[in-house]
Amino acid sequence: MAVTDVSDPRYYHKVVDCQWACPAHTNVPGYLRLIAQGRYDDSYLLNRESNVFPGILGRTCDRPCEPACRRGRVEDTPVAICRLKRVAADHRGDISDRLPKAPLIKNGKRVALVGAGPSALTVANDLLPLGYDVTIYEKNVQPGGLMRVNIPAFRLPAQVLDEECGYIIDMGATVKYGTTVESLSSLLGEGYDAVYVGSGAPKGKELDIPGRWDAPDQVHIGIEWLANIHFKHSETIEPRVIIIGVGNTAMDCCRTAKRVGAKDVKVIARRGRKHFKASPWELEDAEEEHVEIIENHAPKRFVVEHGKLVGMEFERLQWTTDATGRETSTVLETRLIPCDTVILAIGQDNAFPFIERDIGMAFDAKGMPVVDKTTHQSTRPEVFFGGDAAWGPQNIIWAVAHGHAAAISIDAHCQGRSVSERPPVGMTLVSAKVGMHSWAYENDYDASKRSKMQHEDLTKRFSGIGVEVELGFTAEQAATEVQRCLNCDIQTHFTAPLCIECDACVDVCPTNCLTITTNSSPIDELRTRLSAPALNLAQEIFVSPALPQTKRVMVKDEDVCLHCGLCAERCPTAAWDMRTFDLKLAYAGLIDGQVTR
Ligand code: SF4
Ligand code: SF4
Repeated sequence: MAVTDVSDPRYYHKVVDCQWACPAHTNVPGYLRLIAQGRYDDSYLLNRESNVFPGILGRTCDRPCEPACRRGRVEDTPVAICRLKRVAADHRGDISDRLPKAPLIKNGKRVALVGAGPSALTVANDLLPLGYDVTIYEKNVQPGGLMRVNIPAFRLPAQVLDEECGYIIDMGATVKYGTTVESLSSLLGEGYDAVYVGSGAPKGKELDIPGRWDAPDQVHIGIEWLANIHFKHSETIEPRVIIIGVGNTAMDCCRTAKRVGAKDVKVIARRGRKHFKASPWELEDAEEEHVEIIENHAPKRFVVEHGKLVGMEFERLQWTTDATGRETSTVLETRLIPCDTVILAIGQDNAFPFIERDIGMAFDAKGMPVVDKTTHQSTRPEVFFGGDAAWGPQNIIWAVAHGHAAAISIDAHCQGRSVSERPPVGMTLVSAKVGMHSWAYENDYDASKRSKMQHEDLTKRFSGIGVEVELGFTAEQAATEVQRCLNCDIQTHFTAPLCIECDACVDVCPTNCLTITTNSSPIDELRTRLSAPALNLAQEIFVSPALPQTKRVMVKDEDVCLHCGLCAERCPTAAWDMRTFDLKLAYAGLIDGQVTR
C-alpha cells in the first residue's frame, strides 16, 4: 500500500471523527479540553470561530458529530458534545472585547443579505471584519429567522438568540427589520456588489386529501402555526390535536400544543420508528411530555361533519420487506381518530416569489435556482444562495457552513478574483510532550458513562411556553463528561527512521491498533492481516514508510485508538509521538494576505 501522507491535513482531520462529521468542522476536542480547564471564555471563542452560534446550537443542534464520535465505537454512547458546547456558552463571561471587529475604514464594497437567519448572519460575521458594508433585509422585527420563529422558546430562550445574533449585528451590519424583499431585480438595482439569499425554506407542505379544505380553520401548517404562536397571533388550541409528520418540526408542534392547552396530542407517522426524521432525543422529550406517537398510519381523509372537523381517517399499514430490501405496505384496516385540530408537519419547500424569472438566473426543473455546490454562486454571478434557500431544508449547522463557504465566494467576487479559487486548508502539528513521559492532555481512560441532561419537572415546564426544559449540565456532570473525550486531535505521529522494530508499542496498545508487517496490496488484504483486523472500512489505516531494519511497515488502524499515548510512552526511541493537531480552516479573507481573524 502507498505510504500514508500525513502532511495532507485531511488525513489527521478524518481521525478527529467529531470534527470531520461537523458540517462547520468545529474543533470539538479543543473546546472540550478548555472546558475541562474551566476556561469557558476560551472554549466559547474557539467554538465560535467555526460555529458562530455556540449557545444556540448547544441547545438545538442536530448533532451530526455525536454518531461519529469515537467513544461510541469504544463503548456504547458518544460524548455529549452538544450539551458541553452549551456548558461553555452558559458559563462564559463577557467576551465582547474578544470578538472580531469591523475596521473603521470600509473597503468600499456593499453586500445585501436577504434574511437574518443563521446562514446570512454567518456571511455577515465573515464579511464585516473585512470592511464590507453589509445590509440585511429581514421581514420580522428581530433577527434569527426560523431559529427564532419556528424553534419554541422552551428549547431556545430568546435571550440566547439575542446575544449571539447581536454579536454579529453589533459589528456594524445595517438591518432593515420589517422589510420583505419583494423584487430581487430592484435590490440588484440598488448597486450592491453582491447579494446573498438566505431566506430559508418558508413554505410548509400541504396534504391535499379529501376534506382538507372543508374546515380549513381547524387545519394548520406546522411552521406557520409555530410562527403564529411565537407572534402571539394565536395563544390557545383545542383539546384534541393530531400532528401529521415525525420530523423535528412535528416534535416542536406537539410539545407546543401541550403548552397552549391541548390535552390529547397524537403524532401520526406513515412508517415505523426507524424511518422517523426527528432526532431521537426530540422524540424522547415529546414522549416524556405524554405525547402519543402512532406508527404505520397513512392519512386517508379529514372527517368533517356539519362544517366542523371531528377527526381523521387513517389506513393502518403493515410494512414488509422483499428480497431486494424494498418495503411495501398493505392496508390492515381503516381507523378513525377523533380530533379537533390537525397540524401538518410533513416538510418544507423553498419559495422565491421575489425572484423574477427574467433576470438572467437559471432555475432547474423543480423551480429551484441553479446554485454551485462549492461556491454557492447562482448563474447570475453577483447572487449567492445558502442555508435552506440553496438546496432545501437542512439544519442550522449546515446553514452556518454554507454561510462560511459563501462568504469566501462573495469576497472573491467583490475583489475581482475567481470564486473557484478557494483558500487552502492547513494544519499545525505540535508535540504534546511535556517532560519525559507526560503529555499536555489528560490521557487516562475515564470509564464514566454519558451524563444525562437534567430536565425541568413536568408541572413547572407547562407553566409557560418560555420555560426552558433542558437545564444544562451541573458542574459535576460537565467535569465528568469532558473527561470521556478521547482527545482524537492528539494524533499518534510516527517517524519511521527512528523505529528499531522492538514491538514495544504493539505489545502495550490496549486496543491492538498497531501491527508491524510486510506491506502489500490491495488495502483490503492488508486490513485483514493486522493484529486486530481493521474491518471498519469507514476508518483509515495508516501505513508508514519502510522501516530501517526489515523494510516491513508500521500499520495503524485508526478505528478504536484511545489516544492514550501508551505507544509513545513505551517507545524507547520516540518513534511514536503524540502531537496536537489543529486544523486551520479556510475563511473569507485568507487569500491575498487579508487575514483578519
Ligand atoms: S472522543 Fe472526543 S475527540 Fe474523539 S470523536 Fe468523540 S468528542 Fe471527538
Ligand atoms: S494511543 Fe497508541 S497505545 Fe493508545 S490506543 Fe492509540 S495506538 Fe494504541
